[in-house]
Amino acid sequence: MSSIETDVLVVGGGLVGLSVAMHLKKMRPRSTICLIEKDSRLAAHQSGHNSGVLHAGIYYTPGSLKARFCVEGNRALSNLCERLKIPLVRCGKVIVASTEDEKDQLERLHDRGTDNGVPGLRLINQRELREIEPHVEGIKALYAPNSAIVDYTQVAAVYAAIYEKAGGQILLNTEFMSSQIENGRQHVVTNNGDFEARLVINCAGLHSDVVARKMGNVPDVQIIPFRGEYYLLKEESRSLVNGLIYPVPNPALPFLGAHFTPRVNGDVEAGPSAMLATMREGYSRSDFSLSEFAEILRYPGLWKLVSRNLRPGMSEINRALRKSAFVSSLRHLVPDITADDLVPGGAGVRAMAVDRRGNFVEDFYIEEAPGAIHVLNAPSPAATSSFLIGKHISNKADLRMNAD
Ligand SMILES: Cc1cc2nc3c(=O)[nH]c(=O)nc-3n(C[C@H](O)[C@H](O)[C@H](O)COP(=O)(O)OP(=O)(O)OC[C@H]3O[C@@H](n4cnc5c(N)ncnc54)[C@H](O)[C@@H]3O)c2cc1C
Repeated sequence: MSSIETDVLVVGGGLVGLSVAMHLKKMRPRSTICLIEKDSRLAAHQSGHNSGVLHAGIYYTPGSLKARFCVEGNRALSNLCERLKIPLVRCGKVIVASTEDEKDQLERLHDRGTDNGVPGLRLINQRELREIEPHVEGIKALYAPNSAIVDYTQVAAVYAAIYEKAGGQILLNTEFMSSQIENGRQHVVTNNGDFEARLVINCAGLHSDVVARKMGNVPDVQIIPFRGEYYLLKEESRSLVNGLIYPVPNPALPFLGAHFTPRVNGDVEAGPSAMLATMREGYSRSDFSLSEFAEILRYPGLWKLVSRNLRPGMSEINRALRKSAFVSSLRHLVPDITADDLVPGGAGVRAMAVDRRGNFVEDFYIEEAPGAIHVLNAPSPAATSSFLIGKHISNKADLRMNAD
């Protein structure tokens, strides 16, 4: 069977892959670009199972890709949504300190966000907090009026539509299996035929390390999947929450803590929890893959990570497994909330890159190899930053192709 010839093959139909494809097609209208997605729909994984928040850019180290792309990405995505009439609600966000220690941390977050150029960010007192969120209790808060909510599956559909209108190709149900370089081109094998490409861009999210290895590259990191489960507030309890309500995060962990998130469809979610998943796309507690779990457990970086974060890890597990512990962490923010206000909601799995020394990789991480670009760490706020990440990677791809 003959191979399909393409200049660029993008692997993965999530927000990152779609944004890369969209930008690259615009930059190089004459180049042929094909995006393959193993599932039968786009945004089937992280991009369609997230909190739907357009983050403001507060938490990230100044100068990092996360800080730059989140602040600018919020702006770029807001403009796109306005232009294309995608519903976006600028509901604002409060990060709430409940103790004196958290108050100090809040001030550090305020400095960080200010360094990152987050628009309108300010510390507020109890009275102002009560005006914004009458049911929230805290001694001080950080207010980010620029945080917003959006449906990221709609954003993914819009990226795909722009890309296809410009002549880009998307093949669903097409799984990358392996590739090797032959005569200076990548020979790619999928379950849906072979491809010859000058460049492969790996945006496979939860599987990005596996795809890199199948291309003969040995990444310095492994993706460790963390499942997050949500509860939904019953309709009659939604009035407890106006906008986004977050705790001060535990600085030891890359998760933001269980928070309240209004959704554009009117739902209000509480969560997500954070717990090691037993398979990469394991959305329910009973999902289990022996081979994937064994691979996770064999990774030495995981054990170093666990031993270093035993206490916060145990308390996350407790919160994930016991509704009463979860509710009690929510009551630090909204004391009126009870278990009766909550019903089970959906779940998502985060792709977190962990290095061999057992550290979460802090920033977005992109590795280049002959004939390939691998996106090996694109966790939150990658949905917010997706427009900018796509632009950044397509610039790299354009330079590579001009140099060939
Ligand atoms: C619970 C949760 C909450 C979050 N909340 C937020 C938030 O509020 N705001 C925010 O900015 N970010 C948030 N994020 C992060 C954000 O959703 C992700 O960072 C972003 O969606 C990553 O996009 P992606 O394209 O890299 O990955 P994905 O969306 O996972 O896409 C990767 C795609 O690659 C495909 N693929 C994998 N292997 C292959 C293969 N071999 N062949 C072909 N295709 C393949 C997969 O099927 C998948 O569709 C959250 C994430 C989670 C899980």
